Amino acid sequence: MPVDLLAFPLVGGRLALNFVGTLGKRTTERFERMRTPEDLAHWVELAGLGSVSTTAEDLMNARAVREALYSLTLAALNRGPLRQADINLVNGWAARATPAPALATGVGQADGVRANALQRQDPEPSASGVLAVVARDGIELLSGPEVEAIRECEDPACTLLFVDSSRGRRRRWCSMNSCGARAKMRTLRDR
Ligand SMILES: [Zn+2]
Repeated sequence: MPVDLLAFPLVGGRLALNFVGTLGKRTTERFERMRTPEDLAHWVELAGLGSVSTTAEDLMNARAVREALYSLTLAALNRGPLRQADINLVNGWAARATPAPALATGVGQADGVRANALQRQDPEPSASGVLAVVARDGIELLSGPEVEAIRECEDPACTLLFVDSSRGRRRRWCSMNSCGARAKMRTLRDR
């Protein structure tokens, strides 16, 4: 089946890994899915982080956070050098403010059903707030128990990372719709 290479893969099981996956085929074609500020805004929405307006500077910052998270993940997997600059960059973004949830008095109080109805009324997130959320997720992931379950898709060209939360931890592919399906077809052909 055809796979849209530009579509954001959300197979990582963690915000930080899904963000890292916005650059595909890292060792060969380096397939950039986050090409414009609008792409970043689209990813933010797909990730369930709200709708943000984004600038060229946000895009540049987003890619910097992404690459720092990627290289720290490789380091955590003993596959790359651990660089203090990456740590500093992720820490710096994680320290930025994120929108605080807020309560507001609810509508429909006149119906008498819920006289004291309260509603959650979150402020619009900013691009830098979103990067803070992603950076914090990376910190939590790389310093927590799930780091042991980070895998790379077994298709050598793919390079997508995911947290293997399958029973027995035997997940091999980023997705059964793409790399997994191709591997299955190869096996069938070889028979
Ligand atoms: Zn894959």
